[in-house]
Amino acid sequence: MLKTIRLLFIMAYFSGFAWGQNPNHAQFAPMPFPPADGLRTGSGAPGAEYWQNTASYQIKVSLIPEAHTIRGRQTITYTNHSPDTLPFLWVQMEQNLFKPNSAGQLKQPPESRWRGSFADGGLELPSLTVMMNGKRYTPKTFLNDTRLRVDLEAPLAAKGGIVQLEMEWSFVMPEYGADRMGRFDAEQGMVYQLAQWYPRMCVYDATDGWNTMPYLGQGEFHLDYGNYDLEITAPSNMIVVASGSLLNPEAVLTTSQFQRYQQAKNTATTVKIVKPEEVGTPINRPQGKDALVWKFRAENVRDVAWAASAAFIWDAATVDGVWLASAYPKEGLGDSENPGWEESTQMMAHSLKEYSTRWMKYPYPSMTNVAGVVGGMEYPMIIFCAVGDRGESLFGVTDHEFGHIYYPMIVGSDERRHAWMDEGFNTFINFYATLSYYKQDPKSFWQNTAEQITFYSQMRYWDQPLTTAPDLTVPDALGLLAYYKPAYGLVLLREYILGPESFDAAFRAYTERWKYKHPQPQDFFRTIEDVSGEDLAWFWRGWFYSNERYDVGIQNIEVGSGVMTLTLKKNKPLVLPQILEITYQNNTKERIKLPAVIWHMGDTFTKSLPTKGKVLKVQLDPDKLLPDQNRANDAWKSKN
Ligand SMILES: [Zn+2]
Repeated sequence: MLKTIRLLFIMAYFSGFAWGQNPNHAQFAPMPFPPADGLRTGSGAPGAEYWQNTASYQIKVSLIPEAHTIRGRQTITYTNHSPDTLPFLWVQMEQNLFKPNSAGQLKQPPESRWRGSFADGGLELPSLTVMMNGKRYTPKTFLNDTRLRVDLEAPLAAKGGIVQLEMEWSFVMPEYGADRMGRFDAEQGMVYQLAQWYPRMCVYDATDGWNTMPYLGQGEFHLDYGNYDLEITAPSNMIVVASGSLLNPEAVLTTSQFQRYQQAKNTATTVKIVKPEEVGTPINRPQGKDALVWKFRAENVRDVAWAASAAFIWDAATVDGVWLASAYPKEGLGDSENPGWEESTQMMAHSLKEYSTRWMKYPYPSMTNVAGVVGGMEYPMIIFCAVGDRGESLFGVTDHEFGHIYYPMIVGSDERRHAWMDEGFNTFINFYATLSYYKQDPKSFWQNTAEQITFYSQMRYWDQPLTTAPDLTVPDALGLLAYYKPAYGLVLLREYILGPESFDAAFRAYTERWKYKHPQPQDFFRTIEDVSGEDLAWFWRGWFYSNERYDVGIQNIEVGSGVMTLTLKKNKPLVLPQILEITYQNNTKERIKLPAVIWHMGDTFTKSLPTKGKVLKVQLDPDKLLPDQNRANDAWKSKN
């Protein structure tokens, strides 16, 4: 064998064989992903030894409107499934972002979307007790900005050790809390939106150990799964909505509201449980009590959020067994020309059906959309959207936040490190929901999207790879890098590189394999390759891990009898497959797809292709799907 190879080299040398151009070896080399192990297989699925820890919460919380104060008492039950003993725990204290000198507030400019500090901001934690192995004690703690280390007297055992943390805490609600939470001063009462509000366990995993990246604002969150029992005490004039299922509707609603609530359980048509004309009147709420306790339960979720207001109109419908509800003050109502929040529940019905059909059946019992000060933010089974949104922008933000139930609420990727795995994947599935909601023509929709992507690819926004952590991404580039570029990368995979059948099977497999788990980037890339059977290292490297731009043009075409010799020139680093369309004199067209690997041996590609008649025209990328920075060199026309 060796002898033959040596002979071939000698022959090549004497026959004058030479490459003539610089090969692009690096672009096609295997990706340097961590090797597969017992936790994560080489095919991209969780391995036989995959583990993650669980954190379940019992929370009792009171809303005290006079001082906009939230006071809570909670027990966290944390189970360590890892093979490591843990001498301490890390807890996220995200309200501390709103302390005047928090790291996040010092980093953000005053006009930032992620601002929110104020004199009384931050979490008070008057009591913290550890309960483990039958022992109760007050632990030593170390506060580091938005994180708290809890030192255990004895380490938490590996593979099943359980510790409970009992806490009492309180905070004053920011008016504007980094576009995640806050207060909207509606005419009929304050709308409170509560998110990233109680102390939550950090994730401990095999990749990063304790995930203690700070909450700076721009990066969202990363949490383990668990069950939540949530009891919210609020003034009796308020309606309260939260993640999960309401357990005691009859105790917190009037008789007629409870009847409408039951009615909404049995119809896909929106039912107004609290009608606009009832808000603020005595018949609206049960009489005789100052406060009511609303009880919720949410299972197998990463988090809970909630909202409360005396100004809420509240409607709901049940679609495919899922309770869909909207809570909004009258400021959210639209009119026939500009529909508003009265349409929100049916907008969610569209999202629910679209995502359940296309990717995975919606697994949770409910989803509630809340209008308030937050522009758009997602939590399990509850989303916050801007009260002023109408029409297309209301559908756009509602559908986007709804889609997040899949990425990252079900497929629990690390948002604080890998925003593209939730924002990008979600923006991708939103494209198809928008197409079907407005019955748009996909061809022009993709062309417009490609045009925008191409426009941005020529700007400095493109300079960072989309895999950059969100807190290290230029703020103005976040929309492109975390949302549109990864989303369009998946569009290219589906509509251009792999085709819908292959891509959909692969993307569904990724969703199914990693539901309620924590995928790393390589798990996504490997699953797509595993199910599609395609080596895509060049695409992961060029689109996800670099800032490469794209331009391929026709350098020369020579037409002979029954054959055409084509020379293409790649003028920018990015490699992609190239579809070319040949138009013949008899007006028939033929399409040929050249794989990306044609660029392996250099930036000039020459090939003789058989033709089926007199060639009149050759057009590159005939559907205009590629982010091609120069379309002037994409066509060739016969001169005779
Ligand atoms: Zn989003």
